[in-house]
Amino acid sequence: MPDNVNLTIDDREVTAPRGETIFLAARRAGIDIPHLCYDPDLGLEPTSSCRLCLVEVEGARTPVPACSYPVAPGMVVRTETPSLSQHRRMVIELALSDHPHDCLTCEKAGACALQQYAYDLGVKEPRFGAADVAVEPVQDGPAIVYDRSKCILCGRCIQVCHQVQVSGAIDFLGRGFETQIGLPPGVARDDSGCAECGNCLDVCPTGALAYVGATGHGRAWEFQQVRTICPYCGCGCTIVLNIHNGRIVAVTGEPGLGVSGGLLCVKGRFGADFIGHSERLRTPLVRKDGELVPATWDEALALVAGRLGDIRDRHGPDAVAGLSSAKTTNEENYLMQKFMRAVVGTNNVDHCARLCHASTVAGLARAFGSGAMTNSIADLEQADVIFVIGSNTTECHPIIGAAIKRAVRFGKTRLIVADPRVIELAEIADLHLQHRGGTDVALANALIHVILKEGLEAKAFIADRTEGFEDLRRAVQPYTPDFAAKITGVPAEKIVEAARLYATAPAASIIYSMGITQHTTGTDNVLALANLAMVTGNIGRPGTGVNPLRGQNNVQGACDMGALPNVYTGYQAADDAAVRAKFEKAWGVRLPSTPGLTVVEIIHAAAEGKVKALYCLGENPMLSDPDLAHVEQALKALDFLVVQDIFLSETARLADVVLPAASFAEKDGTFTNTERRVQRVRKALPPPGEAKPDWKILSDLARRMGYAMEYPDPSAIQDEIVSLTPSYAGITYDRLESGSLQWPCTGRDHPGTPILHKDRFTRGRGKFHAIEFIPPKELPDAQFPFLLSTGRILQHFHTGTMSRRSEVLDRLVSVGAIEIHPHDAASLGVADSQPVRVASRRGEITIQARVTDRVAPGTLFLAFHYRESPANRLTIAALDPVAKIPEFKVCAVRVEPSDAAEP
Ligand code: SF4
Ligand code: SF4
Ligand code: SF4
Repeated sequence: MPDNVNLTIDDREVTAPRGETIFLAARRAGIDIPHLCYDPDLGLEPTSSCRLCLVEVEGARTPVPACSYPVAPGMVVRTETPSLSQHRRMVIELALSDHPHDCLTCEKAGACALQQYAYDLGVKEPRFGAADVAVEPVQDGPAIVYDRSKCILCGRCIQVCHQVQVSGAIDFLGRGFETQIGLPPGVARDDSGCAECGNCLDVCPTGALAYVGATGHGRAWEFQQVRTICPYCGCGCTIVLNIHNGRIVAVTGEPGLGVSGGLLCVKGRFGADFIGHSERLRTPLVRKDGELVPATWDEALALVAGRLGDIRDRHGPDAVAGLSSAKTTNEENYLMQKFMRAVVGTNNVDHCARLCHASTVAGLARAFGSGAMTNSIADLEQADVIFVIGSNTTECHPIIGAAIKRAVRFGKTRLIVADPRVIELAEIADLHLQHRGGTDVALANALIHVILKEGLEAKAFIADRTEGFEDLRRAVQPYTPDFAAKITGVPAEKIVEAARLYATAPAASIIYSMGITQHTTGTDNVLALANLAMVTGNIGRPGTGVNPLRGQNNVQGACDMGALPNVYTGYQAADDAAVRAKFEKAWGVRLPSTPGLTVVEIIHAAAEGKVKALYCLGENPMLSDPDLAHVEQALKALDFLVVQDIFLSETARLADVVLPAASFAEKDGTFTNTERRVQRVRKALPPPGEAKPDWKILSDLARRMGYAMEYPDPSAIQDEIVSLTPSYAGITYDRLESGSLQWPCTGRDHPGTPILHKDRFTRGRGKFHAIEFIPPKELPDAQFPFLLSTGRILQHFHTGTMSRRSEVLDRLVSVGAIEIHPHDAASLGVADSQPVRVASRRGEITIQARVTDRVAPGTLFLAFHYRESPANRLTIAALDPVAKIPEFKVCAVRVEPSDAAEP
């Protein structure tokens, strides 16, 4: 039982936990105490500086600040008295004394706390007159403008930046009337640590901080607000689209709500304007005389139905393949795989999970029985140790990155980072293991070797809940710290230190991402991490687990929906006769029994003429797949290519037919985030021109191909998913209206599952695997002496289809760059920002050099977002033999200065 106290607030009996503040106790009782410097919903600490929340407590000599004063038994509090009102009027009058009284034209009018309190308290003419407040607003960076004259120095922006975002970029500057908010003097924005998240914007109670793009486009009371889910990464933050005159004017967080509690990153906040971009596809396009020209839906769908049907009938269903999309909804992914299986008759359906986390699905399913994040984002703060390996979390999953920073800075958590680059988290880590790319198994095996040698393993857990331990013990025997040091480049003593730190923590969590999965040994890497967690018993409890961070907004959902060649929804095996029979009965057709092809296999099969038609829904293999020259050759070899997308992507340019689709903001549905959380996506705007939601296009196409796949709306599709998918059986639209649910959720009364494998693993016992280190497929040599790794940056996303059409995001980083160590740059005679030519055995690009010691000597890092310098012209299509994921993280290249004009 919590230790509660009873008190009286404004003559109401209130019960509150001991230690809670008067402010929070009052709020729970429905009493809102005026405040300016405090924002509890975003977790800000009270500073009691604005003095607006003063309340009277019987027996106290003076009024006390409600935001920081704790409740006590029998306390009698008054929040509204004549004397308090007089005091509050004084606070507001003082604030208005050096504040312009321009509410008529202020962007914040209607949503300004100062304006509201002035109204509530009847402050009409501030007694103190207005000081000279003529200061020009300052815009530093592409998104945010600061108007010092409207700043009441409440400090909320500084607090959110330091305490929640943990960037620490801004502070109070100057003294007295000159005091303002800003970056420290002499610090350039790029060096300030500012992540451009705009969370300072959201917490500002006045018009002092404003979003440049919203200026002149309406004010709060004019906005229609639609709550939905961010279309970028797998964190799945709740965003609010503020709509006016048919356009998204601004994106805001909703304090206290959703995965991030209202916090957003730069992409979520400023990256939604791609929706209104002039290049959105508005009509279907068909190729005539070599050109893509506008066509009617009737013409385009007739052509697609005819050609897909014809190729299926003449060459067999397996001559057709489909790529589904991790950007579209669960309902649409469900329909896409149903279309390929029930209408075309093939299991050739896959999507970009193959390129990012196929090894997670394969590896964790083998070790635990379920291939998904074991724990929840929220329980990270309960971890005593977080081991981040192969995840540049603050750039790729910024909200989780901020949560890790908070746990380390303000909590009990200690941090181990294993990454070939000096990523931001490495700078605050207790230990940074800067291992060579592709040596993860050697590192994990060495950690386990030390744990076993020192007797730090969880003996009871191993005995009670796992199998195969002796195989593991034998396998890690040779991986002494000295042996692993030679492979990984990590000093032996650091390996020992990391092993002790991880193994002795009461709760230790592993976070990983594509640095682990995108290898020819991706599945082995995942299995090695599963071994590490099980050997220390770090599974099934808060703050523990093996937690793959999924890349795209709905890549988890696309997998869950069976947009994979070997499984139906909820990972029900496609080669299981009973499963197939269940789906045959529900869908009313015979279903294929032969296994389907994966993404890269589809491309190979296209090049060989085995796959003759490709239906590409929202994917962009012409930038996303390895070895682009080969991809282009393969796509051009197809008899028929249909692309369904929101923009004319690099792949769509090669298509025979292009179908214009609705974006995430123009349809209803659900996304499933990285922690298996299913959330509602809501329609805020109509699609542009004749564009339609993907589910509608699929339905129309199926009908033309002679199969009825009709639904009145996405909720009807979800009903079908629920009926066929045990892990989604309780996830219905009516339940999602009031919140979100984490699968498995096996019935209407099931609350969802924040932590997997609590008492037993999904497969029964957790299985150890004996994993040997295998080097990457292509290592540097005399001809190609550098090791190239590819990945994401904070400001952009995947092939840039969306983020590069966002004004703010593209202005933040408009050109690509390749990171090169200063020693290598010096020996090649390359200066920072100079163009270089980078070549591999498969192709070459020209790109700007960024000289930085974030990368180790002999290694390079290149972001894959830029069509002008496509990273995948260089990468190798070597595959993990189990998961068929390509080795994006390691290939060999050479670099030389380029005479080309700057790219
Ligand atoms: S944009 Fe984000 S990181 Fe930059 S100052 Fe504001 S809160 Fe801090
Ligand atoms: S800019 Fe806004 S949030 Fe920051 S101190 Fe000024 S008024 Fe407060
Ligand atoms: S962290 Fe991911 S989901 Fe959240 S706002 Fe940023 S891109 Fe969107």
